[in-house]
Amino acid sequence: MPFNIRIVFSFTVLMIILSFPFNSYSENNSVSKLSIGFSDGDITPNLGIKPVYIAGFGHNRKAEGVSDPIFTRVFVLRADGKKYAFVCADLIGLFKDQVDEMRKELKDYENVMFSCTHSHEGPDTLGLWGQTPFQSGTDPDYMNSIKNITINTIRNAEKNLTPCDTSIAKVSLPDLLHDGRPPFVKMDELVTLRFNKANTQNPLGTILFWHCHPETLGSGNKKISSDFVGYAIKEIKKKTKGEAIIFTGAVGGLMTSLKLSIKNEQGVELKDGTFEKTERYGHLLADASINSLKKAKPVALTPITIRKKEILLPVDNPIYRLAKQMGVFKREIYDWDLKLNSSPNLNKREEKHPAAKTEVSTITLGELGIGCIPGEIYPELLLGKVAKIAEKEADYEDAPTEFEWFQKWNIPYKTVIGLANDEIGYIIPKKQWDEKAPFAYGNKKAPYGEINSLGPDTAFLISKAFEDLISK
Ligand SMILES: [Zn+2]
Repeated sequence: MPFNIRIVFSFTVLMIILSFPFNSYSENNSVSKLSIGFSDGDITPNLGIKPVYIAGFGHNRKAEGVSDPIFTRVFVLRADGKKYAFVCADLIGLFKDQVDEMRKELKDYENVMFSCTHSHEGPDTLGLWGQTPFQSGTDPDYMNSIKNITINTIRNAEKNLTPCDTSIAKVSLPDLLHDGRPPFVKMDELVTLRFNKANTQNPLGTILFWHCHPETLGSGNKKISSDFVGYAIKEIKKKTKGEAIIFTGAVGGLMTSLKLSIKNEQGVELKDGTFEKTERYGHLLADASINSLKKAKPVALTPITIRKKEILLPVDNPIYRLAKQMGVFKREIYDWDLKLNSSPNLNKREEKHPAAKTEVSTITLGELGIGCIPGEIYPELLLGKVAKIAEKEADYEDAPTEFEWFQKWNIPYKTVIGLANDEIGYIIPKKQWDEKAPFAYGNKKAPYGEINSLGPDTAFLISKAFEDLISK
């Protein structure tokens, strides 16, 4: 064997020998990198024993049946030996106090993120929709069962942990959202994550981040339902043969499927408040997600970083204060911090002004950033589209513009989960706050929104907290 061939030969042998440990190392490494497990738990309330009040529209809407079962849906991620739970329940929302109760029994988790789809066709879990405005619509036994079922579902998802490959897709769907309040700004980007069993094309599950109120069945419906979410999930499961979860994001200001033109396959427009429209909307969303995945790109979802901050928000809304006094609202109330009060950006408040404690957090999954927002944020706050000059009829014409943290967040992919770990109501740009006449945009009466918000400084304080989290 000539000398140079011998060198090539020995080099090749050396490379083959070396490549064995390297190959097996990198394979093991990718296998141990990220695992995912899915599960869901049925949280459909029992009817016929106690009244079940349906949440979301008026008072005293008693459930008379079940259209489709409602669920708490979970995926668990495991990376670098740590576990993270993500929950989305077919409910109107849950207060932070209840989420923290659940977390006490999941201390082996690095993070538990509990959110709701904000369904307006499920049981009251906040207390606001009882027989009268002065009576809570929640049932303590049912609330307890949500907690227990969710914890069990997380444990079941954990048993299903499977090494996975991940891809991501985005698509803009303005035709699937109606914006009910000017300025008309929609967060219409559907983000879809696909998880396949590692090194195969076998789907484990699909996760959607979408920004619409599940309320297609309207205020007249008296049957418990997950609204379009359930129909969309069923369709995705059928077509992909994997699991599916939909998270609800920026739905303030007001993102809805009502008043939206949705046609059936024959081109006939479907009416609000019908199961036909609700099912069709669900299928359109499912198909849009599945189609977007044709152009999905591989995405790294590790390392995982969680950043959290607890903050106080002044409770200015007199209805909320009354609800707390009447025992309708079951959450801890704190004193507003007077030091914070001294900020020139905030309205002046007296000593002992009531405040709610909430939590903002960011979850960074490798190349994907998720802002976990404890309520219903107006999309203009995320998209940097709050008008620089307020309408002259707005209540706080000279209000400071909130921090544009979401626009500044420098990460390849980003989205938000709303009603995350709390439901504090609408998060409205202060420049758009409009309770006092005259009203902006030529409106004869006050726009809907403020009545379900803690107050005009909520958005500023939330955006400041996020600004701090992303600049850490
Ligand atoms: Zn809402």
